Amino acid sequence: MQTETKKIIQESLNALLENDSFLPDLTDRKQAFASLSAILSTPDKIHKSFLRVPLDDGSVVRIPAYRAQHNDAMGPYKGGIRYHETVNEEEVINLAFLMTLKNALHKVPFGGGKGGIEINPREFSEKELNLISRKYVRYFADVIGPDKDIPAPDMGSGEREMDWMMAEFKKVHHGTPYLGSFTGKSVVNGGSLGRREATGKGVYFTFRYLLHDYVKANEQLLANSDNLFAKTTLSLYDRPLTMAVQGFGNVGSVAALEAYNCPLINHKIVAVSDRNITLFNEDGLDIPALIEFTKTSRGDLPSTEQHLQSAGIKAEIKERDSLVTLPVDVLLLAALENQIHEGNMKDIQARIIVEGANAPTTAEADEYLNEQGVVIIPDILANAGGVIVSYFEWLQGRETQFYTEKEVYRLLIEKMQETMDMILPQYYGDPYALRQNCFIHSVMRLSTVIYRQGKLY
Ligand code: GLU
Repeated sequence: MQTETKKIIQESLNALLENDSFLPDLTDRKQAFASLSAILSTPDKIHKSFLRVPLDDGSVVRIPAYRAQHNDAMGPYKGGIRYHETVNEEEVINLAFLMTLKNALHKVPFGGGKGGIEINPREFSEKELNLISRKYVRYFADVIGPDKDIPAPDMGSGEREMDWMMAEFKKVHHGTPYLGSFTGKSVVNGGSLGRREATGKGVYFTFRYLLHDYVKANEQLLANSDNLFAKTTLSLYDRPLTMAVQGFGNVGSVAALEAYNCPLINHKIVAVSDRNITLFNEDGLDIPALIEFTKTSRGDLPSTEQHLQSAGIKAEIKERDSLVTLPVDVLLLAALENQIHEGNMKDIQARIIVEGANAPTTAEADEYLNEQGVVIIPDILANAGGVIVSYFEWLQGRETQFYTEKEVYRLLIEKMQETMDMILPQYYGDPYALRQNCFIHSVMRLSTVIYRQGKLY
């Protein structure tokens, strides 16, 4: 696992070790914490294989594929399968670790897992992708299942892949209940209403709840505090804001639309980007029109003057990576990891960063931006909407009773609000950054469960 991940675990455990009221009946505190550190900083299991897949042209490729199972103290392993050309073993392990923390933070009764297939899905035909997905299930059939490890979509995969995978799982494991083996399936095939939009909606909700509801309810207490968090949130509260959104896929486009439609905060989205370009308009971009356009372009934003004109969209085309350093109040990151790093952290102008992606800010950049009073709503807090609705999908599959879309959103917001209310209340006096606070809460819950399960000795 990355050294920065281990550092986060160690820091959270150190904070808990100093707190004598945490697990007071431990007989050997030091040794117990050493065990916790060892358990949390290494994955339980990592499965890897090469998928041999015949292509349409008759050749055969050998594709590296992984499933990392980080920890199952809270329940079966759970996490997406990423289809991307940069997938590698260390990345899936780190992402699995974040899933463990994310589920523990939001009290989702699952552990943490993550899968990956090292391909650029755009380079394969539908038939080839179908074969790749089904081979993945065949290769990892023994280690996944509704009570063992439940995969879901991640970057580069979606409902289509989950439908194929569940069908393959059903074929391999004749007779076992299969609806709960994968989440993020299409609704006709046992998926949940609202799952597709859940991550983006949840990401925007965390921002809105923090900057509007929470500040409104605690305005006086925040005003009396000299904490940097209090100063930043108050300085942005109740005034026009500009926002830039990095990534316009399933997370970024939905979060941008939520922002566009939200009447509670006076903000405009002045920039969005995808894998090719950044679009900028200081008067605000027409997000619904951009979403309409992406339906006709395999998800790409309009990247030429001609495209913009024919879609009736007013925007300036800029270089892709210029988005993160634009002079905006809020930066919503919904693309890959490591987007804010040592090389660009000093040029960041936003005062709030919302992490829709997993791990988009490196440890160095995180530390630097915290010192500057930038409020970062961390990934495990902000982007849990997907896995929360995955949990509802898994429950619905078990019960074979399905909820309405309204019911799903009500339950989603209820759950995310419960977590926000646990993390935020004392914030005007809190010495920790939000990320650290979330990690401490997760590690605390995990440690208690691991201790109760008698796994410390
Ligand atoms: N891939 C998503 C995540 O990173 C969703 C995982 C799931 O639904 O299991 O949280």
